[in-house]
Amino acid sequence: MNKYREFDNYLKEFPTKDGYFGDFGGAYLPEELARAFRETDEAYEAICHSAQFINELRRIRKEFQGRPTPVYHCERLSRLFGNCQIYLKREDLNHTGAHKLNHCMGEGLLAKFMGKKKLIAETGAGQHGVALATAAAYFGLECDIYMGEVDIAKQHPNVIRMKMLGANVIPVTKGLKTLKEAVDAAFEAYLNEYDRAIYCIGSALGPHPFPKIVRDFQAIIGIEARDQFKEMTGMLPDAIAASVGGGSNSIGMFVPFLSDPVEIYGVEPLGRGSKPGDHAATMKFGTRGRLHGFDSYVLQDESGEAMPVYSIASGLDYPGVGPEHAYLRDSGRVRYEAISDEEAMEAFFYLSRYEGIIPAIESAHAVAFAMKYARENRFGSILVSLSGRGDKDIDYVYEKYGCGERFFDKSDR
Ligand SMILES: *Cc1c(COP(=O)(O)O)cnc(C)c1O
Repeated sequence: MNKYREFDNYLKEFPTKDGYFGDFGGAYLPEELARAFRETDEAYEAICHSAQFINELRRIRKEFQGRPTPVYHCERLSRLFGNCQIYLKREDLNHTGAHKLNHCMGEGLLAKFMGKKKLIAETGAGQHGVALATAAAYFGLECDIYMGEVDIAKQHPNVIRMKMLGANVIPVTKGLKTLKEAVDAAFEAYLNEYDRAIYCIGSALGPHPFPKIVRDFQAIIGIEARDQFKEMTGMLPDAIAASVGGGSNSIGMFVPFLSDPVEIYGVEPLGRGSKPGDHAATMKFGTRGRLHGFDSYVLQDESGEAMPVYSIASGLDYPGVGPEHAYLRDSGRVRYEAISDEEAMEAFFYLSRYEGIIPAIESAHAVAFAMKYARENRFGSILVSLSGRGDKDIDYVYEKYGCGERFFDKSDR
């Protein structure tokens, strides 16, 4: 008996017309901005079902992004732990080396269909900025990326990439000069020119309609992976897993499996430990709250201020989580687990050495969970979203961990 049949019509029912997943989601915005978001919502609903839009997106995915990305069986890694088989959905092989381009190309195409001339966004570590600048170059659109001055100094290679791709990187000098101020600056800029620009969020979060739009574009990960896995093995996996920052690669992986008899795990960063400020494990330690215009779980203090967060993976250090994940957690359909920096780094080096794949540190969190799962479950299979490649991380990793010697016994090559 499949106990998840209640999710058969899930995509038709969630989110509701005003963007709710149960108690979570919505769009809490000043009236003028709300109007701009409503315009995007109406345009998306009108455009996304048209054959022209769907065919164009299919062509882009195939010819520009290099999709479908493969599913890969990690035979050597699996053998270390027993008989449980670990598989990867290789989003690291998507153009630009991560899943973020899946929604950026969709957002760029939507802008084109809406007749907009410019893409606006903020970026923290710069990964979303680079993916969006790539989409802007492809579609011939202007691109303004707001970035805190502190982040600009820390993320030099991504700043260079954005500029080479033709984007304007606009330094934000207010407050702490990081992501939060960059979000405010991007919203303000959008308010001033929403007749010719579209705002493009970096994950499956923010005010409605963005959690839905990003989920729909990222669902290609799970749609492909489900078919590919069935073709390879004749079955569905016993479990699937993905790292959760804001929640975009994970929601894209999860949604096509919701009504299947498959265990689903979201993997959050436990960082250095459970003390406030040492992690970004929102589902484990967060409470219900409102952040950046939507309701979800938030890491917040008593006054409702978002708390400082930390993870070794800069793509995972967000003090909230997309609203759909909050719903899926409360409904019991998805379980959320936390993986420490140390466990993630062990997985980073194991995947490199045993499979020849250097993962993004974000993705290594999901691989670490799969290794744990394989140690605890002697049989079966787990399919992991490998959200990105690790090239961006190797200088930092080398400085802190060398080439990972201490994670291996000498006998164990
Ligand atoms: C940004 C990023 C993530 C986290 O973002 P989600 O929206 O939660 O998917 C994970 N992996 C990689 C490689 C990233 O760049």
